[in-house]
Amino acid sequence: MRERKKVWMDKILKTLKKHFGCVGFELEDPFKLLIATILSQHTSDKNSIKAFNSLEGKVGVKPEVLADAKVDVIGEAIRSAGLWRVKAKRIKEVSKTVLKEFSGDLSKVFSQPLEEARNSLLKLPGVGKKTADVILVFSGGMPVFPVDTHLFTLAKRLKISDAKDYESVREAYEKLIPPAIRGEAHLLLLNLGKKYCVAGKPKCWGCPIKRFCPYPEKTSKNSF
Ligand code: SF4
Repeated sequence: MRERKKVWMDKILKTLKKHFGCVGFELEDPFKLLIATILSQHTSDKNSIKAFNSLEGKVGVKPEVLADAKVDVIGEAIRSAGLWRVKAKRIKEVSKTVLKEFSGDLSKVFSQPLEEARNSLLKLPGVGKKTADVILVFSGGMPVFPVDTHLFTLAKRLKISDAKDYESVREAYEKLIPPAIRGEAHLLLLNLGKKYCVAGKPKCWGCPIKRFCPYPEKTSKNSF
């Protein structure tokens, strides 16, 4: 059964790759990724990218700079991300911790074994399981599959898992996706979730993996 599901997932990922094209990624600076992830909470990609670029231009995205900067100055630079007071405080706090615990170099965390590295990241203020896993896979190249709200919805509709807790859903995806391609698979399935398998009514009529999907309430264009 597990083997059949792995073959099924492989077909889904190949179909998505054909549909969306290459979603390859280069490993990113873990501290910058951490700040980008804090900025992306509860806002759109467009607003968080704008805030990140503004912060980079006006203040700089380095732990030693942000740990020293006034919360108001950080807040002013990141206004477009929403909740800017909370996020500015969090950014300053996490910068101080990275400076103290990692001498300003967060990539040191990747010299630890996977579970240890995850636990070290989870100790940082404001870092939850999803953020930790995003940093592990997209900065450290470690074999984890981060799960966000789009991937929870998708897991349910594709009958991968209907669990509500993060670890169970992550493990269910990881059982079906080989370690070497978990980062790429995350991006492909995330694209699917953002463009077709949206919360509420999914856009099944245009969905590239419709033929593989067991969701019983598939929508047609006329159902809108
Ligand atoms: S067919 Fe519909 S429910 Fe299934 S994955 Fe595609 S958009 Fe989601």
